[in-house]
Amino acid sequence: MHTHEIDEWDAATAIRAAGLRVTDSRSAVFDALRNLPHASADAVYAQVAPLLEHPSLQSVYNALNDFADAGLARRIEPAGRPQLFELRVGDNHHHLVCTACGAVVDVDCVVGEAPCLTPSATAGFVVHEAEVTFWGMCADCAASAA
Ligand SMILES: [Zn+2]
Ligand SMILES: [Zn+2]
Repeated sequence: MHTHEIDEWDAATAIRAAGLRVTDSRSAVFDALRNLPHASADAVYAQVAPLLEHPSLQSVYNALNDFADAGLARRIEPAGRPQLFELRVGDNHHHLVCTACGAVVDVDCVVGEAPCLTPSATAGFVVHEAEVTFWGMCADCAASAA
């Protein structure tokens, strides 16, 4: 499933295509992820709570994890930060994370295709992908630190 296709689908179509049952809470969470790339469960909850009759943080967590397990969303776990979820899946892209403000930015695969980085030794592993997090300061934080 490619991001470009998902972009043109409404939430219900995308959720159904991932093999999941469509619920109000899943639809709201999907739409929230569209507006909030790299969102934490708390950020998604803040966005969907006003839209739902019975909002609950647990149901947001469940929806996000169901999406990730079904391949509809990707779960990213920068060390020491809350889990983040995004709809850009399947392209082995990487992330730049700001150590000051937590901003997260997508970076395309380092050399173009998975695994995109070759370890110096593989210990017999067949490597499928490399997950890379570049830590640093975003432009705004670097400017205000200077
Ligand atoms: Zn920053
Ligand atoms: Zn991303």
